[in-house]
Amino acid sequence: MSLLLVTHRACLGHSNGEGHPEEPGRLRAVLAALEAEEFSTAIQEQAPRATEEQLLRVHPRHHVEGILAIRPEGEAILMLDGDTGMSAGSAEAALRAAGAGVAAVDAVCRGEVRRAFCAVRPPGHHAEPDRPMGFCLFSNAAIAARHAQAVHGLGRVAVVDFDVHHGNGTQAAVEADPTILFLSSHQSPCYPGTGLESETGVGNVFNATLAPGADGEAFRAVWRDRLLPALESFGPELVIVSAGFDAHARDPLAQLRVREADFNWLTAEICRIADRLCGGRVVSTLEGGYDLEALAASAAGHVRALLCA
Ligand SMILES: [Zn+2]
Repeated sequence: MSLLLVTHRACLGHSNGEGHPEEPGRLRAVLAALEAEEFSTAIQEQAPRATEEQLLRVHPRHHVEGILAIRPEGEAILMLDGDTGMSAGSAEAALRAAGAGVAAVDAVCRGEVRRAFCAVRPPGHHAEPDRPMGFCLFSNAAIAARHAQAVHGLGRVAVVDFDVHHGNGTQAAVEADPTILFLSSHQSPCYPGTGLESETGVGNVFNATLAPGADGEAFRAVWRDRLLPALESFGPELVIVSAGFDAHARDPLAQLRVREADFNWLTAEICRIADRLCGGRVVSTLEGGYDLEALAASAAGHVRALLCA
């Protein structure tokens, strides 16, 4: 069975404003890398819009309606906080980015494919249930997890987040829910300042912090020694990956020294566990990564590992 690649051109129509690191060129770079011959067996699907019902499984109505009501005209950008902007195309992009995860879950849970990758933006893991934050409007990974439970009847879903920043939004959405496991490695200190190892939810949250300058070996060690064993003992029925590539040594927003080979290794380990515990079901969605060259190479390596592992 092949890999599903879900994307939508509307995700290129979202802007946080001129000079912002979370820019359309990121997605263009990823999609260009995925045009390579080696990915030609992937099934491509256009992301549907997430429905109100799907969004409301994570966000209160005021958040959903508030985001969808913001439609700046022309080239105008409305800043929601110091980092997060919305342009004319942002609401549509956010609906497609969340909808991509839902469509990927549908395909994987129906057994049409074992793995899926959502090449989308805006990212989602900083968006808290009741507020946008850190370049994120809707909590894409948490919405996908809840959809798997509500529509496909899954009991236990794991969210694995290796973006260099703590996925505070995903954690906030699931930390009181023992049926969803949240695992995150991230640089500390770093934005957004949450993700202390003492934050454990109801025993379903595992945070592993890495000091600025930590390299791929340190990154692999926290996954090998602490986070992947937690994934195995949870026994997920589906693994959702928040795939951010800003832990890369070249990334301008953080100071870790992770390389493509380390992301590849982790992806293969996640797939190995999924193969053993849940029929190989892995749905990955793009989060951060701000050096275009490193992002494109890392995302391509990640998808290669999803395809081959
Ligand atoms: Zn990030």
